Amino acid sequence: MVIQFFDTYTRTVRPFEPLHADEVGLYTCGPTVYDYAHIGNLRTYIFEDILRRTLAYNGFEVRHVMNITDVGHLTSDADTGEDKLEVGSRRTGRTAWDIAEEYTQAFKDDLARLNIIEPTIWCKATDHIAEQIATIRAIEANGFTYATSDGVYFDTSKLPDYGYLGRLDIEGLKAGSRVDIGEKRNPTDFALWKFSPAGSKRQMEWDSPWGIGFPGWHIECSAMAAKYLGSYFDIHCGGEDHITVHHPNEIAQSQACCNTRLANFWMHGYFLQLDESKMSKSSGEFLRLQTLIDRGYDPLAYRYFCLGAVYRAKLNFNWQSLDGAVTALNRLRQTAFEWGAPGNSVDEGYRTRFLEVINNDLNMPRALALVWELVRSDLPAPVRKATLLDFDRVFGLGLAEWQPAAQAIPDAILALVEERQRARAEKRWKDADALRDQITAAGFEIEDSPQGARVKAKN
Ligand code: AMP
Ligand code: ZN
Repeated sequence: MVIQFFDTYTRTVRPFEPLHADEVGLYTCGPTVYDYAHIGNLRTYIFEDILRRTLAYNGFEVRHVMNITDVGHLTSDADTGEDKLEVGSRRTGRTAWDIAEEYTQAFKDDLARLNIIEPTIWCKATDHIAEQIATIRAIEANGFTYATSDGVYFDTSKLPDYGYLGRLDIEGLKAGSRVDIGEKRNPTDFALWKFSPAGSKRQMEWDSPWGIGFPGWHIECSAMAAKYLGSYFDIHCGGEDHITVHHPNEIAQSQACCNTRLANFWMHGYFLQLDESKMSKSSGEFLRLQTLIDRGYDPLAYRYFCLGAVYRAKLNFNWQSLDGAVTALNRLRQTAFEWGAPGNSVDEGYRTRFLEVINNDLNMPRALALVWELVRSDLPAPVRKATLLDFDRVFGLGLAEWQPAAQAIPDAILALVEERQRARAEKRWKDADALRDQITAAGFEIEDSPQGARVKAKN
């Protein structure tokens, strides 16, 4: 069956075919670990997880690489300001290294709680300084760099199609750049290597052919993606904000060093917005997954909420919508649970329709609608269950493992149940019946089975 994805590079939905038989190379830009991830960031990682699961569902082996940005991401995307990790260090009084470690772990915990499959390979920027230096050297050897007093820069005017991914209006940007661009030659030029500020020692710095300093933010992705996936691979993902700066720069670097645009497909997840405004980590006010959990929400309800929208549209977050997701997810869980054990085969008609919608650029709202149609269908329960669990390989809602929470039964009721058991054992049937009535009146019911009596709260 044809798989089609929207490719931001060509701005078209086009058929996806892997470059190498049966293995798909996937690179997703990872977090900058100077703070917790917010639920907006997590929406992007859920989209990427759905992409990965869809590829796997279609029978592909996926080699998924995600980086951890633990150095070089400055407070301004224009390569000015401070390193976010060093700012985090000042804020907390701890080392940049400790901060990176802590927030990397917190990030991995969030992914696990959202049933996001871990990448095949994690790679940290600070573990790949040599690879980044080698990539910058290749770019330099090909004549695309120049030095200023604060670093080595990429000269974007040397690439005729610089910024194509973002359809950047280069002339317009130049005209508007009467504002200070410092020693940069063009407003879109960006740092490949930054020097440590004179007279001060950074916590994270390395020696290089150009002087002591640290890599620019963009070079890590070009260097690590090429190392683990080759210089031209299948799919590169990130959030929509990367369309205009980070990804054009990754592409420029790869063109300059390896003459490729790095990936065949460029896919972007659109933003989660809070009250119609962009949610951003640096604005200081943001919702974490833990915030939702503290308010009594199941993390998977957030995952279900995200599945309710296509990844290529902005999604507005509010509590009522999340409540709606909770209700729907719990209904689905309870229904599936009551269907009992899955049968041996899935319904092929539903499976074909499911493939059609997920392979049509990951249309999760349509896929969920199909699930509810399956729920209402008159197929035998074991078939419905098997089909639903098969679909859940893509949804990742953990439906196979879910069980209703055991309800706490008050001690007083348990005592009545025990007394009734005694009465029955002694064949005092009248007493036993009276005790049952008492238990029922208190809102509980008893089921007698060969294993003994079970008590549960009435629905
Ligand atoms: P960062 O940790 O800031 O580098 O961002 C991690 C990922 O989250 C990147 O792929 C961003 O594009 C993405 N992202 C940032 N803000 C949002 C948002 N509000 N909604 C969805 N994705 C976002
Ligand atoms: Zn990147």
